[in-house]
Formats: sequence, C-alpha cells, structure tokens
Amino acid sequence: MEEITLNRDKKGEILPTIQNFYRFCGHGRLMALKCIECEKLIIPPRIICPKCSSSRFKWIQLSGKAKLRTFSFIHIAPKQFSSQAPYIIGIVKLEEGLSLSGRIIVDKDVKLEIGMDLIVEFEDTVSVGWPQWPRYYFRLAKVIEQ
Ligand SMILES: [Zn+2]
Repeated sequence: MEEITLNRDKKGEILPTIQNFYRFCGHGRLMALKCIECEKLIIPPRIICPKCSSSRFKWIQLSGKAKLRTFSFIHIAPKQFSSQAPYIIGIVKLEEGLSLSGRIIVDKDVKLEIGMDLIVEFEDTVSVGWPQWPRYYFRLAKVIEQ
C-alpha cells in the first residue's frame, strides 16, 4: 500500500473529510465510510452518520462498479466547467448499493441507457478550482461494438 497523506485525528484515525475522500481518489481509490455503530455505508463522507448520528467510521474501498440510474446533459455549465459543456452528469448505483452522482464520460456516439454498466475512473490532472484534487468520473464498463 503506497503512502497517502491523509488528515488524521489524535488517535491516528483517518478523518471523515471530503479532502481525504479526494486524496484517495488521487490514488485511484473510490472510498466510502462505514459507520462502526450501524454499518451504514456513506459516500461522499459526512461527519455524522445520517442513520444513527454516530461519528465513528472506518473507510472502505469500493469496487467502482456501478449501474447508470439517471443522467442529464449539462449545456449551461458553471463558469469553471463551461469549456467542457455539454457534458453529462449522472446518478449511479454502486455495486455496494450506494447512490453517487458524478460525471459520465463516454464517446459522443454512445447512446446512454439506464442500467448500463459503468466503472469509476479518476482524472490524471488536478482540476482547476474546487476540489483541488483529481476527480472521479464514470465510463462504460465495456466498449460497445459498433
Ligand atoms: Zn450509523
């Protein structure tokens, strides 16, 4: 396991912060929190479990496999993303049962359909603006034969 610089508390536990979430992304890992009290999985991280209000978590690595649940084309984007418009934002259902929103990046000629198999990928470059860490996105798990 390579060294990742993470924010930790006094006991050395990895803090449930969005910064740590993106630091993991920078090392090619999609991570969720697992509540130690009720075992709820949480992504992106929160400091309090929405189910039982616990603040004790451990980080677990997700498979990155997902199915497309819904998506929309963004034609009018916030300023920092306007050069990339139109682009696709979707909500996926992760293999572990969690929902997560994110960019869906596919070739222009691909027709997206609900239920398509996706897989997480991570940007190589650090994005401009927030967050200042590599972001995750989803692409098709299989390249479709034309
Ligand atoms: Zn909980």
